[in-house]
Amino acid sequence: MKQELLDFLNTDLQFVKGVGPVLAARFDDVLSGRRVLDFLLHHPSGVRRRDLVDNVMDATTGDVVTVPLLVQTVRPGRSFRGRRSPTQITCVDRAGNRVIIQFFNANFLDYWLQKLPVGAWRIVSGKLERPGRGGNIINHPEFIEPIDAADKIPRSQAIYPAGEGLTQKTFANVRDQIFAALDGNVGLGTSDDQTREFFDAMRAVHFPQTPDDLSPHADAMVKLAYYELLAHQSAIAITRRERADARHRRTVRPKKHDLMDRFYDLLPFELTSAQVTTIQEIHDDMRRDIPMMRLVQGDVGSGKTIIAMAAAVMCAETGAQAVLLAPTDTLAQQHFAKLQPLCEKLGMVCECLTGRDKGAARREKLISLKSGRTKLAVGTHALFSEDVVYRDLGLVIIDEQHRFGVAQRSAMCAKGNHPDLLALSATPIPRTLSMTIYGDMDVSIIHQKPAGRKPIKTTKLPMGRVGALIGRIAAQIDAGAKVFWVTPLVTDSDETDMTAAVARHEMLTQYFPHTGLVHGQMDKKQRDAVMATFADDHSGMSLLVATTVIEVGIDVPRATIIVIENAERFGLAALHQLRGRVGRGSTQSYCVLVHGDNITPDGTKRLDVLCETDDGFVIAEQDLMMRGVGELLGTRQSGWIQYHFVDYREHRDLFKLAARAAADMTTPSSWVHDLMYMFDRSTTIGA
Ligand code: ADP
Ligand code: MG
Repeated sequence: MKQELLDFLNTDLQFVKGVGPVLAARFDDVLSGRRVLDFLLHHPSGVRRRDLVDNVMDATTGDVVTVPLLVQTVRPGRSFRGRRSPTQITCVDRAGNRVIIQFFNANFLDYWLQKLPVGAWRIVSGKLERPGRGGNIINHPEFIEPIDAADKIPRSQAIYPAGEGLTQKTFANVRDQIFAALDGNVGLGTSDDQTREFFDAMRAVHFPQTPDDLSPHADAMVKLAYYELLAHQSAIAITRRERADARHRRTVRPKKHDLMDRFYDLLPFELTSAQVTTIQEIHDDMRRDIPMMRLVQGDVGSGKTIIAMAAAVMCAETGAQAVLLAPTDTLAQQHFAKLQPLCEKLGMVCECLTGRDKGAARREKLISLKSGRTKLAVGTHALFSEDVVYRDLGLVIIDEQHRFGVAQRSAMCAKGNHPDLLALSATPIPRTLSMTIYGDMDVSIIHQKPAGRKPIKTTKLPMGRVGALIGRIAAQIDAGAKVFWVTPLVTDSDETDMTAAVARHEMLTQYFPHTGLVHGQMDKKQRDAVMATFADDHSGMSLLVATTVIEVGIDVPRATIIVIENAERFGLAALHQLRGRVGRGSTQSYCVLVHGDNITPDGTKRLDVLCETDDGFVIAEQDLMMRGVGELLGTRQSGWIQYHFVDYREHRDLFKLAARAAADMTTPSSWVHDLMYMFDRSTTIGA
């Protein structure tokens, strides 16, 4: 691919026309990065048609209708006994049906009247409601245009999985800017056929005309899914080959100290047998002349951190250094807080290095790493910055490995001489897929929770009965519990998640005065501060209202209740991960799945699966079987592994095709390199 095209794909979204830093930051929670490329990889999940009808009775209640209307009368909103009635504009359609357009915001009255002058025909497009006795009502229409400007209303509108503070109009604008640039002079026009076809497929997916265009069997979707799989499978094939090449190139480091016995003595608990087995496997791997590449898969709370620590200790026994790489500052600091005291008792120097370290303090840490004095470095991307040098990096541990791309994994490993690699993942992959997804790694599965851990009691609750929860929660809080209250992700609406979270926070504060609130519109620092207060046992903050921004992996041992609103709108994976935020201690924990009245049969089935089991592997298998495309919210948390275009259920044949193509490849072509670059799960979080 041409450099100018790559540069364009790499451009920070804030430099796209009409975006800027504030809006760009809002994309953080929705996209896997902040580049133009990350936007392209985030494709619409649906299509809204705005076909013109003449008779409003032809449209279904709750659907969007686009209809020419004659404006007849205006009744401005009035205040009466402290309540405000909406401004109502009465119109008729060509068939003579009455339609009332309502506006709730009084401040813009003049603006609306100017858009809808009495006696004029206008094309109006918005959601049609028919409350009560059959009247037709459109609240705050999305489009109002003169009859001769009908083409200003998009016939089909792509619906993107949105996030807080991002409307569909924003998505459409950014998309239009990006494709206008691609049509301009960023080098696409003069690119080779493959590249142009690739971006043609991107265009088809971002400008869908009908829902069929987004089906997993649409040509463009199949093409992109295949390329995505090819990129992934090629990366696996390359690491496998590199690893085979590394055989005999490194010498097994002899053991210089005895630390493991002391490590075992220091443990405040008995290891589970799954933990013991895994540590043994790691031990054996580290004694071989081929670098270890092991993935430890275990549900949230299964105790992977201590396994990482054991590996670091075994590495320190040889005098070499280990790094533990976490996807965010918060997680890095949490790991450090846990591991540092253990290290201190073992006489191992442990440091934490993140993007926050600057100046003299950072320099000092780098010197300690370079001299080999630091034996365990915990941190984020900062650990593989260019100027970080290790004396003898023997082990790379990656936590939440799906958050890192293959390129980042290599960048980290390149800091040592064929170091061992240990990846940790809380994302159970269905057995049927684990070979194709993690084909380059040996896998240890921790299929067991620490002893004394009680299964989380999970129940469904209709929204109408939420009031009954308050008493239960109050009793638990009195007994010392901490409670997460997760509010839904609102997509495709003017309302944002924040609105829902703020409203819920307000309501709950009446019962529990010291209730915390985190949402995506707060900046990271504010969010972290609230999270820290909540996690602090002595803070008195027992209830935390949060949108789905609450971090995976955050450890609040006293949290024993999680309430998830609109649970039916989340995927199984997301629900399972959210639920994993409780049940981390020995007290009984609860998860309440609150759902709306109009829950679909599939939604009910999903919630039932969660009520029946908390085995992540079972849930993953079920998810694979029932996963309906498009029904789930397409955010980062909704998948077990974050493919953009691949549909596990529908693209099974593509998996095989891509794996075969990658295995047959002797050296990857430059196109395959481009694909790997484009689809590599890279992360800009906490950078
Ligand atoms: P995860 O696998 O999600 O990373 P952690 O390593 O954070 O899980 O462990 C979750 C909690 O369980 C921690 O508080 C940890 O100290 C505790 N833990 C880990 N192993 C055991 C064990 N064998 N017995 C009791 N508690 C354990
Ligand atoms: Mg963890």
